[in-house]
Amino acid sequence: MKKKRIIETVHQDARMSITQVSSLSDDIRRLLKRYNVRPKKKRGQSFLSSHSMAKDIVDLAELSGQEEVLEIGGGFGVLTQRIAEKARHVHVIEIDPSLVKALRDVAKDFNNVSIIEGDALTVDLPRVSTIISNLPYSISSEITFRILKEMEFEVAILMYQKEFASRLVANPGTSEYSRLTINVQYYAEVEEILGVPADMFYPVPAVDSTVVRMVPRSKGPFARDESVFHWMIGGIYPYPNKNLRKALRIWFRNLRIDKNLSDEVLKRLEGVLKGDERLRSINLNELVSLADVLLELIEIRTITDPRV
Ligand code: SAM
Repeated sequence: MKKKRIIETVHQDARMSITQVSSLSDDIRRLLKRYNVRPKKKRGQSFLSSHSMAKDIVDLAELSGQEEVLEIGGGFGVLTQRIAEKARHVHVIEIDPSLVKALRDVAKDFNNVSIIEGDALTVDLPRVSTIISNLPYSISSEITFRILKEMEFEVAILMYQKEFASRLVANPGTSEYSRLTINVQYYAEVEEILGVPADMFYPVPAVDSTVVRMVPRSKGPFARDESVFHWMIGGIYPYPNKNLRKALRIWFRNLRIDKNLSDEVLKRLEGVLKGDERLRSINLNELVSLADVLLELIEIRTITDPRV
């Protein structure tokens, strides 16, 4: 309930201050011209055009001044400047050389901004406690898994396309609950914290956005073998509306494993899952138990080890 209310009350002040919004849009237009940038959709180049929204996004990270922060996709530095004012250091990654130039000019006013020129999917990532980003939506999935798997951070404040964010936070039993939900929630607790209308950007994109907070799960539930968990999710979740027994049978048949093995799996899961549950309704704890049963079968060589 609380979550929903926060989302609905978003940004009355940003909506109110039309003059401020339009003046930053004008600034962005000028900057595009000055740095000779033609916004590219495939790079997700819609820039925040509200100072108050930038302030609110950075405030959500509750910076104390001690943090090393990573920003992915700095653009013209609207968030970067705000982070630099509030954190010990900000490392900002930007792929577009013209925007890197703009960021270098922004960084001149600070002594705590490092610019990493390159692709956030491949550059070496710095060690940070906090990640703040208005993400380029074209790499939403890949960059999310990169930071979840490769970084040890405390909190991430990330802006996504609204529909994508709904899938990240989905609960079992809903239509948004999917492979993406499970693979992300395996690593982190995720909540929606701010809705951001499309007119907060220049150029105005076709979609609204949502800011989420991600906090890595320290206590699990974790599968005994993470790779078996993800292998299993990839194997059964293409059929999210099927029941578990059916999805296992299809997956085993595809793997050329005796499809009747699904009965053995379900027997070992007694008390946890019966087999008639729709995949969309199975929660993380139950999926972890399922992955552990598969690992048992791999260990006794009833199922060929997918990891070798
Ligand atoms: N932070 C700025 C803001 O809020 O106005 C810009 C955000 S804009 C949605 C996304 C930024 O990510 C763009 O500056 C774009 O050039 C950059 N970008 C796109 N793909 C990237 C990648 N693979 N690696 C690093 N930066 C990328």
